[in-house]
Amino acid sequence: ISESRVADKWTKTTCGYCSVGCGMLIGTRDGRPVAARGNPEHPVNLGKLCPKGLSEHLIVEAPGRATTPMLRKGGRGTPLEPVSWDEALDAMIARIGALQVRHGNEALGVIGTGQLLTEEFYTLGKLVQLGFRTRNYDGNTTLCMASAVSGYKLSFGSDGPPGAYADLETADVVLLVGSNLADNHPILCNRLRKKPGQVLIVADPRVTKTAMMADLHLPVKPRSDIALLNGIAHILLRDQLVHRDYLRDHVDGLDDFVRFVTEFTPEAVSEVTGLSVETIETVASIYGRAKAAFIGWTMGVNHSTQGAVTVAAINNLALLTGNIGRVGASPFSITGQCNAMGTRESGFASSMPGYRKFDNANDREELASLWDIEESELPSARGLAYPDIIEAAVTGKVKALWIIATNPIVSFPNYNLLKQAFDTAEFVVVQDGFYPTPTMEFADLVLPAAIWGEKEGTYTNSERRISKVNSFATPPGEARSDFDIFMALAEGLGVKDKLFPGWTTTHSAWLEWQKVSAGRLCDYSPFTWQQIEDQGGAQWGGARLYEDGVFPREGGRALLHCVPCLPFVEQPNREFDLILNTGRTVEHWHTRTKTGAVAMLEGMVPNAWLEMNPVDAQRLSLRQHDPVTIRSRRASITQVELRVTEIVAPGQVFMPFHFAEQNSNLVTLGAFDPISREPNFKQCAVRVERSTLN
Ligand code: SF4
Repeated sequence: ISESRVADKWTKTTCGYCSVGCGMLIGTRDGRPVAARGNPEHPVNLGKLCPKGLSEHLIVEAPGRATTPMLRKGGRGTPLEPVSWDEALDAMIARIGALQVRHGNEALGVIGTGQLLTEEFYTLGKLVQLGFRTRNYDGNTTLCMASAVSGYKLSFGSDGPPGAYADLETADVVLLVGSNLADNHPILCNRLRKKPGQVLIVADPRVTKTAMMADLHLPVKPRSDIALLNGIAHILLRDQLVHRDYLRDHVDGLDDFVRFVTEFTPEAVSEVTGLSVETIETVASIYGRAKAAFIGWTMGVNHSTQGAVTVAAINNLALLTGNIGRVGASPFSITGQCNAMGTRESGFASSMPGYRKFDNANDREELASLWDIEESELPSARGLAYPDIIEAAVTGKVKALWIIATNPIVSFPNYNLLKQAFDTAEFVVVQDGFYPTPTMEFADLVLPAAIWGEKEGTYTNSERRISKVNSFATPPGEARSDFDIFMALAEGLGVKDKLFPGWTTTHSAWLEWQKVSAGRLCDYSPFTWQQIEDQGGAQWGGARLYEDGVFPREGGRALLHCVPCLPFVEQPNREFDLILNTGRTVEHWHTRTKTGAVAMLEGMVPNAWLEMNPVDAQRLSLRQHDPVTIRSRRASITQVELRVTEIVAPGQVFMPFHFAEQNSNLVTLGAFDPISREPNFKQCAVRVERSTLN
């Protein structure tokens, strides 16, 4: 290594990509980042990092950073032009204000992100709800974890993953449902198979890298996971493998549930899932006889029109067997973004800060008192969720959109609908650390933001661990931290002194958030920033929730849910004969705004591909590496490299969703879970043919 790349300073921080929340050390020399390495003392990763983490220091100096505010002064069809911050913020406040005067406060829709610090998201919630006075505020976490949030609320009365990563090591059986840890949360794979005799079962239609690690892979038919979960419950009850005392003391709904799962016989479940009766019996027996059983899930469950109730069906198994609140025993959502959890706790989307309910009088009074405002100033109910904000923009109810650190043009399902929303909206603000992103094509105003590495605060990971994030670089050009942008807007709106009195840095927000969360399930008050940094993070609620069997539902009892197994929305037919499944690869993050700018990662995986079983390839006369076109009822994607592989079953194809140029969301379905409003990214009907030459 040349001397110029030897660090003269190391800064402790937390990875800004996924929700595993690895602790890392960033090496700088003369103030410039030169290296990243895992923090050997951080309990999450013990010094290990995946390829994204190992190259993360490169992101702050990557090409394409946004450095100056840009305004489309001449209106749509004219170029974005550099302007001063004053002009940019004045324009934003004036344009949004004028639209709100004409069409009401809720003419503004705001989409935030799990990439912000908890302190920033908390601040943004107050600014949007009490400053801009619109309830139409949500995060891109609704594309990712909203079903887990809703499922936890259904079963336990509150959001909050009950377990800890350590449970992956101590469980006798780990059942992963729709979760490809090896690609999406790679460092967690190090936790598996540590305990002698631990059985790893992976339910996934695709033979993912994680499925390849399993003792037992369950190649379920797409969207048949509910039938499998109900079928396991049927066998647990039939074979007396349930925890009768736990059910009596802590769980409601047993009688209805017993009646409901009667029809989910192994034979019936075999028909729906494609698994043999013997396999279903074996899985239920292993799960039911384990002393400590862990069920983890991610997007295979959440990205569904039945995502929230599928989570409830998973929770049913944990409740039936008392596998919750004990070492190695938990149902456990493995979150997506680095701070998806922080946004769930501190924001305003599906609940008020501190998991307070909009319709709970005590919660409202308490929050109003903490903020020194009238209770009537708080929103009376949640506003529109992300997909409903987009739909309201299409119909003209929402006139202005403010998009923060997210890139919906690539990440939102049904591109055509989204494009219509941007075209119809009268004013679109995009705030991001990079320029241009595909979404900025539709922006009237671009606000350049600082990114991870340039800001200080906290993220909260999947196991509720609050970890410190530190800066080691200054934002490029005139870029400002999201927090500073929010403060400037509060000044401009004239609400700074009322909502954020004396606030100067994200630490001011932290101190207030500690007070607001004190005594709540997600209680941040016991920790200081310094303690969090010194001890490698701290889990709110302790290692595990619900150890005493008392749940935050009325009466303190959890609830079993009867979850019907509905056919998925878009069945294949003769014209669209294949089911498209979308997902990720380890080298990239979401829409590649960041990883696409890191040459090492982009060089490893520069393009999308389509996986197809040899049976289908032969039927369609397609060969390995052929350029193919994928058509759905909505649109088509062309020139995608075909990979013929038995990783996918006949009748199914798979494509990663990261790529703007070959955007899988051109063809995906605009169907959403009715409870969580999370999109059904995982299945739509397509046909595939060889692309003609350009
Ligand atoms: Fe970062 Fe996630 Fe990789 Fe850990 S596993 S280094 S948190 S991207």
